[in-house]
Amino acid sequence: MREKCSAFDFLDMQTIFRLSDRPVVRCMERWDNVMSVMQAPAGLAVKAPLIANSDLMSGKPSLIGLTREEMGEALAEIGVPQKQVKMRVSQLWNWLYVRGVSDFDNMTNVAKELREKLKAAFTIARPEIVEEQISNDGTRKWLMRFPPRGAGRPVEIEMVYIPEEGRGTLCISSQVGCSLTCSFCHTGTQRLVRNLTAEEILAQLLLARDRLGDFPDGSTPVGAYVPSEGRKVSNIVMMGMGEPLYNFEHVKTALLIATDGDGLSLSKRRVTLSTSGVVPEIFRTGDEIGVMLAISLHAVRDDLRDMLVPINKKYPLKELIEACRNYPGLSNARRITFEYVMLKDVNDSLEDAKMLVQLLKGVPAKINLIPFNPWPGTNYQCSDWAQIEKFADFINQAGYASPIRTPRGRDILAACGQLKSESERMRKTERLAFEAMMIANHGADD
Ligand code: SF4
Repeated sequence: MREKCSAFDFLDMQTIFRLSDRPVVRCMERWDNVMSVMQAPAGLAVKAPLIANSDLMSGKPSLIGLTREEMGEALAEIGVPQKQVKMRVSQLWNWLYVRGVSDFDNMTNVAKELREKLKAAFTIARPEIVEEQISNDGTRKWLMRFPPRGAGRPVEIEMVYIPEEGRGTLCISSQVGCSLTCSFCHTGTQRLVRNLTAEEILAQLLLARDRLGDFPDGSTPVGAYVPSEGRKVSNIVMMGMGEPLYNFEHVKTALLIATDGDGLSLSKRRVTLSTSGVVPEIFRTGDEIGVMLAISLHAVRDDLRDMLVPINKKYPLKELIEACRNYPGLSNARRITFEYVMLKDVNDSLEDAKMLVQLLKGVPAKINLIPFNPWPGTNYQCSDWAQIEKFADFINQAGYASPIRTPRGRDILAACGQLKSESERMRKTERLAFEAMMIANHGADD
């Protein structure tokens, strides 16, 4: 049975955060979604400081995001005897991914001498949190900062946590910015800075679990909206910033670690990778990673999709749907999700709905209808609600599940297609100053 904590019936909680030296104040108001709330004293101020970690600036390589083999090689390099390597890798794997530690000193069953060696050679520190925002519907958005890498400067990305009754979904990013320019997407207006590494992709999950108290010794922040039972992060969607299949190897490594049964142990059925349609990598995704697939479809005619999702010019609809039909493991129990953003007078007619049904004929599919989430500078408008419902009904009657996605986190620009990191919103002069400051703090590019 669903519960609701009365202390939060009329929530009047201020959450005070810092973005560099600008204070950011968010107000949480009444949240009508019915969900139980863990720990619920009323009227509490939660302060999330700018979280920094000096170990990140050391330039030491991280153990996070290494495969078991790579971790074994790294241990051998610092003198761990070969016959102990496998056992030590298992020990570390458990501390990093089951216990969620981010400090070697907490690895209590590892001899002090080895901990000192590990500390001297590696880091397991989390990235910095620059800002944490909480929507009035309980959605959380974090702005995270990673130290300089290939692009030669620190970078920031956003990730979003969407709590619902029964599950908590983390939307994570695969790139900083995006090289594609889907015209309805805010991220698409931010140029590609670089790919994220496997470490950085995994770090998003680790950090979210830290912040939500989702590791064994963690505690959930007072007043946080989380599922009433089970994991607080139960699902991952790779639908944040970037095209994951343009960063295939790092995404693959990160997702295989996230779904490793002796570690973070997320079910592959609860991990969804969303692509705009990088056809050559679609089969590999099913074959080598084995997670659920989502396609950013948004149009059913090539001429329109060429405009909305320009990668369509390279991989048109016919090739895309053919790749979907051949997705490994595809069945009625493992359907592909097709994302369809509802744009007023652009792609929302009943004729479009008919063509959609024809296009997907024979493909085990679910169609997620996404009311367009506006962002500053866009020319698109969200379809009228009545039109969205008509569209949904038509598809539903044709036998396809067609849920209309409830917009979440619109007030903090955390909704689908709205992500864009703060550093990229700055004016150019501000950004250059920011980058210079960060490079001075973090040292040279690694
Ligand atoms: S929808 Fe995805 S692929 Fe397209 S611009 Fe946005 S982030 Fe990039």
